[in-house]
Amino acid sequence: ERSLSKMWVALVLGLLLLFVLAAGVSYRVALGVTRPLERMTGAAKRMADMDYEIRVPDDGKDEVSELARALNAMAESLQGQMAVIRRNGMRLQSVLDNMPSGVVMIDPAGNVTLYNSSAEWLLGSSAKERVGRSFTEFKQHYELSQLIRQALDSREPLHEELTVYFPEERLLELNLVPMRMSGEEETGLLIVLQDVTAIRRLERMRSEFVANVSHELKTPVAAVKGFAETLMAGAVNDPETAQSFLKIIHDESERLNRLIGDILELSKIESRRSTQQFSPVDLNAFLERTMEFMKTEAAKKNIELQWEADPELFLEADEDRLGQILLNLLQNGINYTPDGGKVKVRAEYVAGEGADDVDGKIRITVSDTGIGIPKKDLPRIFERFYRVDKARSRSSGGTGLGLSIVKHLIDMHHGTIRVESTVGVGSHFIIELPLLQP
Ligand code: ADP
Repeated sequence: ERSLSKMWVALVLGLLLLFVLAAGVSYRVALGVTRPLERMTGAAKRMADMDYEIRVPDDGKDEVSELARALNAMAESLQGQMAVIRRNGMRLQSVLDNMPSGVVMIDPAGNVTLYNSSAEWLLGSSAKERVGRSFTEFKQHYELSQLIRQALDSREPLHEELTVYFPEERLLELNLVPMRMSGEEETGLLIVLQDVTAIRRLERMRSEFVANVSHELKTPVAAVKGFAETLMAGAVNDPETAQSFLKIIHDESERLNRLIGDILELSKIESRRSTQQFSPVDLNAFLERTMEFMKTEAAKKNIELQWEADPELFLEADEDRLGQILLNLLQNGINYTPDGGKVKVRAEYVAGEGADDVDGKIRITVSDTGIGIPKKDLPRIFERFYRVDKARSRSSGGTGLGLSIVKHLIDMHHGTIRVESTVGVGSHFIIELPLLQP
């Protein structure tokens, strides 16, 4: 009986040991299969959350590793495709953000789905405020929302020009194109906005210019024609009258000549057909030469011409153009200064504001002791054909184009011009030019 119970104990202990061993071995085996599967499940979940960077270990030879390899390959391909999609999306976004036209997209329900940065600038509200909201909330742009409604209802493309007053007054060219999104029955709307304010202003200026030119040409032509006809009708037989009429015809044709010359010059400068030839100009020598030209003209009116310049003063400029600027200003100075007056030119160096003195400038001031320009006319004297006193300008041979030519030439040199003037005392035309052309 004792040996029987010993055997039982040994049997139970042996069985227990065997059980523990078996449990350990099967746990390890099970873990080897389920752990990779768990990893793969986790990876698949992360991929569902659009994280395609995840990879699982796949360096075995069994079927589970085969599955892991397939999963990794799928992640890689998805990652590649996603990068392509993202790149395309970014490209499209940067096209939309950088294009000068405003682009707005509206879905069939009337909600804004796209609002690019030019649209923000043209219509004045940010994409954040607009996207996802209805177009009927375009409260500041009543006419625009009416047009959108019309285009959505009619499903026909619309082309309009519209003045908006918010955020500032602008003339916009609008193209509204109905758009069917793939797979959807109803149509949305694509709106392209373009700012045509400057173009229209330019067109208006052009046509005004043509009208002005015709008007300016008409007067001398009419005079020439009239006096020639009078001469032909018999005045030619009276030598004294004939002489004075011929003088008028001569003067008027001179005026015509000057006018046409100025108009051609202006159009040449404006169309930028003429090339600039910048070179270093010695201002002392330059002023001496230029003043020499005007000497006789000034002497006729007994006007004293003076000039002074800092020594060793140089700047980079197109010398012919610079001469044209100065001659025009001097001519005006002489024209609009009574006999016995003074016209003076001063050239000096003006140091820049920064310590390194990069923005140092040359200042040339043309002053006269003439009739001066009334305050109300000052902002307009650089306009084409603008004259303070038409009669006086005509009698002095002015065309009204001199200062606008000057302004253009100074712009060409990246400089500025301003006027200070007191009626009856005189005027100062102050030009500032950069030392070096950019
Ligand atoms: P214009 O050929 O008539 O002189 P500008 O364009 O040169 O035309 O000048 C425009 C107008 O500005 C002139 O008609 C004149 O009334 C005024 N103006 C220009 N320069 C002077 C000046 N130095 N003093 C007084 N008025 C001037």
